[in-house]
Amino acid sequence: MTVETSPAEAFRAAFRGPILEPGQDGYDEARAIQNGLIDRRPAMIARCLGTADIVAAVNFARESGLEIAVRGGGHNVAGRSVCDGGLMIDLSTMRSVLVDPERRTARVQGGANWADVNNETQLHGLAVTGGQVSTTGVAGLTLGGGLGWLMGKYGMTVDNLLSAQVVTASGEVIRASKDQHADLFWAIRGGGGNFGVVSEFEFQLHPVGPIVVGGLVAYPFEAARDVLRFYRDFSANLPDETTAFAGLLHAPDGSGVKLAAILACHAGTIEEGEATVRPIKEFGTPAMDAMGPIPYSALNSMLDDGFPKGALNYWKANFLQALSDDVIDTMIARFEACPSLMSGMLLEHFHGAVTRVPANETAFPLRDEAYNLVIVGEWLEPSETERNIGWVRESYDAMSPHMSQGRYVNYLPDDEATSAAAQAFGVNYQRLQAIKKQYDPDNIFHYNQNITPA
Ligand SMILES: Cc1cc2nc3c(=O)[nH]c(=O)nc-3n(C[C@H](O)[C@H](O)[C@H](O)COP(=O)(O)OP(=O)(O)OC[C@H]3O[C@@H](n4cnc5c(N)ncnc54)[C@H](O)[C@@H]3O)c2cc1C
Repeated sequence: MTVETSPAEAFRAAFRGPILEPGQDGYDEARAIQNGLIDRRPAMIARCLGTADIVAAVNFARESGLEIAVRGGGHNVAGRSVCDGGLMIDLSTMRSVLVDPERRTARVQGGANWADVNNETQLHGLAVTGGQVSTTGVAGLTLGGGLGWLMGKYGMTVDNLLSAQVVTASGEVIRASKDQHADLFWAIRGGGGNFGVVSEFEFQLHPVGPIVVGGLVAYPFEAARDVLRFYRDFSANLPDETTAFAGLLHAPDGSGVKLAAILACHAGTIEEGEATVRPIKEFGTPAMDAMGPIPYSALNSMLDDGFPKGALNYWKANFLQALSDDVIDTMIARFEACPSLMSGMLLEHFHGAVTRVPANETAFPLRDEAYNLVIVGEWLEPSETERNIGWVRESYDAMSPHMSQGRYVNYLPDDEATSAAAQAFGVNYQRLQAIKKQYDPDNIFHYNQNITPA
């Protein structure tokens, strides 16, 4: 007598990691992601232990018609790494990082975060452009482009991607690189999670640190206008090695004191770095000076405490081509109205290597020298949600006359993940649609910043 097994039973038998369902121990912990505003309940959470598990999960979801959400580091503010009712393919149990110091490369599993990467690569004095908060996942950040302290010198994270192992919609395991599936390789360098589940990334590394010059200098908020004007001139003349951001933020001690700050990293020699950041340290009367020689890994975790897991987040971002006096004054006025001590406004300066790559060379299209204005709404009390989201939206609207059309896909909020995706992919959207049609014609990977197959 043959016993028929259901697809779910066959999936459970093939899958090596835990599969969690509502009510089971660990389910609530596994569905909780970085952004506490996201409260979704998948029918199943498949915690993968390897590529074979990812294949089993993709095949099961496709054949059962279950919606798929893919979780790397679980940091995306839009929260598309967890879905209601579908299958969450969870890679947070796949975090290995293998460095080849001779070839200066690293193979990084799809659930690793930037602390995992920096920890291993810095052992050899090597690094690749990565997130400025070390708990951010490698996968989502890389697939969307990846900006960070090293981008002036080494470009975006995607500019350093050598290859990736991808589980496609049909459950095939393929390697994408310049020589294999070159179209897919182009698409995953900026096209987000649209083309399959990446089980492993291979990066080119560069000699960095272990000590670099960097950190933060904060000035009293009353000096904000002068500080941002100074930053405008300072950032316009930087060597590739130095990447500098500016921010309006609150003192980390919870006092509510507002500050204007300049943050920087110099990925060159200590002497050059100290000379480059000296004008920041000598400008005005800083309220706090934490800029100087610092381990590269420490620089990349310096901001971690400001982003605790489970805090409520709503962000909006767009690019400013220039920091006019009007831009600066509007930013300051909006920050004065900020309702949460955890929120801030950040200017991320794109220059150097990142801007020398043509906009259509990778799927990531934002290659002009410019400032990415990120309006970071972050708070703890659910009763404050409406007020805080309102502040982010109103601030974005107030800044919008100065914005260009470029939006970084990784900073789109949940309510714009679909509607603003085409705008974020910009000049590359049509080619992305064609490649999407080839690799995922039925759009099974749609719970993301979606590219419709065409
Ligand atoms: C505090 C904070 C700091 C940040 N700092 C930076 C920064 O310095 N630089 C920067 O560029 N961005 C930064 N970001 C934005 C960041 O790039 C995105 O949030 C990114 O999506 C995070 O990746 P993740 O793997 O943690 O996210 P997840 O939420 O796990 O994934 C995001 C999306 O990527 C896709 N995805 C995830 N894993 C895979 C995979 N293995 N294969 C295929 N698709 C996958 C899915 O579609 C998923 O919805 C920051 C975000 C936060 C909240």
